[in-house]
Amino acid sequence: MGTDPRPVAAHIRHVIKLLRSPQADSPCSDAVAHVTDLFDRSVPPAQQTLLACRKSCSHCCTQMVVLTAPEAFFVAAQIRKRPKTIAAVVDVARQTGTLSLEERLRAKVMCPMLEAALCTIYAARPLGCHGFVSTNLNSCLAAFERLETPDIPMPQDNISVLYASRMLLLAALRLADLRDSTYEMNSALSAILTADNAEQRWLAGEDILAGVKTEAAPPPQFEDAIRKMAAFVAPTV
Ligand code: SF4
Repeated sequence: MGTDPRPVAAHIRHVIKLLRSPQADSPCSDAVAHVTDLFDRSVPPAQQTLLACRKSCSHCCTQMVVLTAPEAFFVAAQIRKRPKTIAAVVDVARQTGTLSLEERLRAKVMCPMLEAALCTIYAARPLGCHGFVSTNLNSCLAAFERLETPDIPMPQDNISVLYASRMLLLAALRLADLRDSTYEMNSALSAILTADNAEQRWLAGEDILAGVKTEAAPPPQFEDAIRKMAAFVAPTV
């Protein structure tokens, strides 16, 4: 994912193809897996050595996680056969689903995907979790343990790749005539996991997340970039 729009356009077309694949068990999982794999391959390896993030470090997993519906279907596919996790998701959604970002942080409720300080859906974690990294543990402790004003230092490359990945996914959803709204993770998962054939119905155009509050739309600059990218790709879809 660089400045040349043609490779990004090719990835957008591929994501659309995956979303429209009728034979797949979970087209959304395949589409999001492609984007997250691209994310992982796009962050320069040298950046990883700068990070303070380590296995079993989960201080930041009390934050609100915001995701698109396809990301939620990908997570749901990982936990569908884990009744305890599903019960925890429903419980955390009930406790925190309507809180603001700041209130969610102050509630200090851990993500229900965590077990023994490890993310049990690590490979399928939402893009926001992929992109949330830090180069300084003390800043994380200040923000998430002592609840001081968050000031987490992140490498610019990680931020750029996160924006590009989100842009790519949102442009693909629009071009595939699918909803591009974003939701609080546990609330979206609760709705998905308690509905029959949720993903198939959503892909067919039914708004099975209609009862879940949507989060803020992308900021104008980001929105402009998504529109331009979608317009660039549209003639070839
Ligand atoms: S999904 Fe995983 S990485 Fe994201 S907040 Fe939950 S435990 Fe942490």
